[in-house]
Amino acid sequence: MKLPIRYLGDPLLRTKAKTIAEITPEIEQLAQDMIETMIANNGVGLAGPQVGKLLRIYVFRDEKLHPAGHYELGEPQVAINPVFTEPSKETESMLEGCLSIPGLHLEVSRPARIRVRYQDLSGAFHEQELTGFLARVNMHENDHLNGVLYIDRLSAKERKQIEPELQKIKQKYAYLIS
Ligand code: ZN
Repeated sequence: MKLPIRYLGDPLLRTKAKTIAEITPEIEQLAQDMIETMIANNGVGLAGPQVGKLLRIYVFRDEKLHPAGHYELGEPQVAINPVFTEPSKETESMLEGCLSIPGLHLEVSRPARIRVRYQDLSGAFHEQELTGFLARVNMHENDHLNGVLYIDRLSAKERKQIEPELQKIKQKYAYLIS
């Protein structure tokens, strides 16, 4: 089932999500619904708070440049209770967007590499070093679990420049906030 998205201005997007103690059938259903919602919105990532669930879960898919020149999306994956460690000192600037902040795409600087440990839907733990697009999407989604949005990672000057656009987005979706 496709779930409604929460937009900028919704206080849920600014609330820290809780650890998932047990992977119940409800969590499995939530993951399926989040994947469906991400795909329906042409997204590459979606976190619990974005669909009104304050739980430490996000879904994502990799994006790879095909030799023919177009981008190909990988299979949707689920990360539960992710923990990030060892961010590289080296940073990388990359264009980001967010389903909760429609119409905006901005360059954001983040560590180029980072390690993540998370559980999949079976409860099994995975640990891997992430780089490139995959590191980017995972860090972006993990921020959502802490009530952080990518616009918070812009410089004060950049943030000020886009403030009118952010206000417009907030006004446009204010009626959805309950
Ligand atoms: Zn986002």
